[in-house]
Amino acid sequence: MPDTIFSKIIAGEVPCHRVYEDDLVLAFLDVNPLSYGHTLVIPKEARATLGELSDDSAAAIGRVLPRLCRAVAKAAGVADSNVVQNNGAPAGQAVLHVHFHIIPRMPDEPEGRQGVRLVWKPGKLENGEELAEKIRARLD
Ligand code: AMP
Repeated sequence: MPDTIFSKIIAGEVPCHRVYEDDLVLAFLDVNPLSYGHTLVIPKEARATLGELSDDSAAAIGRVLPRLCRAVAKAAGVADSNVVQNNGAPAGQAVLHVHFHIIPRMPDEPEGRQGVRLVWKPGKLENGEELAEKIRARLD
């Protein structure tokens, strides 16, 4: 996988405002925050998308995400946040190194500093059991 800006941050070649680090995970402030406290959580393993990540890195991120969510929300003085993870450019991924955004939701802030606003237009589930089986059969 080609180097990304996040590989350079992990290597210490590009500075960041670090909020957490262990052997497998790094978390730091997003330079272009959607709200106060917007934090990125990344594996040190260089993989573009979540589906490519090793179980060890995924477990390490899963272990620390709730703690980081709590700390970010407390620092921002809010109870609510979104955790967003984009896979692939069409899904909004700009940096091709797996990352989770922790974005405090701050409705009292001016537009542009409130956090992420998801456009969510649900349909109605059809043939659910057939689809669930299709997914189950592809679990590796
Ligand atoms: P995504 O669109 O999900 O790939 O998000 C990439 C995020 O990385 C954006 O929110 C950027 O603001 C953030 N970003 C890019 N470069 C840096 C950097 N050097 N330090 C901190 N955050 C960065």
